[in-house]
Amino acid sequence: MEILKQRIIEEGVVVSDQVLKLDGLLNHQVDPQLTMTMGKEFASLFAESGVTRVVTVESSGIAVAFATAFAMGVPLVFARRKKTLLADPDALCERVPSFTKGIVTDIMLSRQFMNSEDRVLFIDDIIANGDAARGLIKIIERSGAELVGVGIVVEKCFQAGARTIREQGIRLESLVRIESLENGTITFAD
Ligand code: 5GP
Repeated sequence: MEILKQRIIEEGVVVSDQVLKLDGLLNHQVDPQLTMTMGKEFASLFAESGVTRVVTVESSGIAVAFATAFAMGVPLVFARRKKTLLADPDALCERVPSFTKGIVTDIMLSRQFMNSEDRVLFIDDIIANGDAARGLIKIIERSGAELVGVGIVVEKCFQAGARTIREQGIRLESLVRIESLENGTITFAD
């Protein structure tokens, strides 16, 4: 997505060889117009997949997942991050390491909002090692719903997350692929 690449070049801040700060458009401030365009793009990529719900993890995935759900005319469900796991018989939970915070968090999704009738599209902002995605994929599987695919705004190809998910036979589409952040420079994959 050329417009997104342009914005990343203009506003992205390379923090290290591993981390790109995108606070101006994804992780702190949200550009509604750009976000709705990204949502339309995901909706068109997965138009034939019979999606019944879009799912994400709070918080940075919510805006683009909302835009996607809006474009597809289906509900959005976001998994919550919980500090402690309260005994909730209705919740599906997974423990996932947080890439940017360096801590482990528990993500939770109520069975009420996902079931075996669902065809689910998982949308997220950035994929690094894939821990957040793997946690949510496990939750989707345990709900009995079918995961039709994963849509990621920014794929960092030099980290293993996207590759390992594709190797599981899951369709993963990203809007922008970054090959390297070395020497403070953003290099796109294609
Ligand atoms: P993963 O679980 O794939 O290792 O990391 C995914 C989550 O960590 C993303 O949802 C994103 O919020 C955060 N994250 C991973 N890498 C980056 C990065 O380079 N920059 C920012 N701002 N967040 C990142």
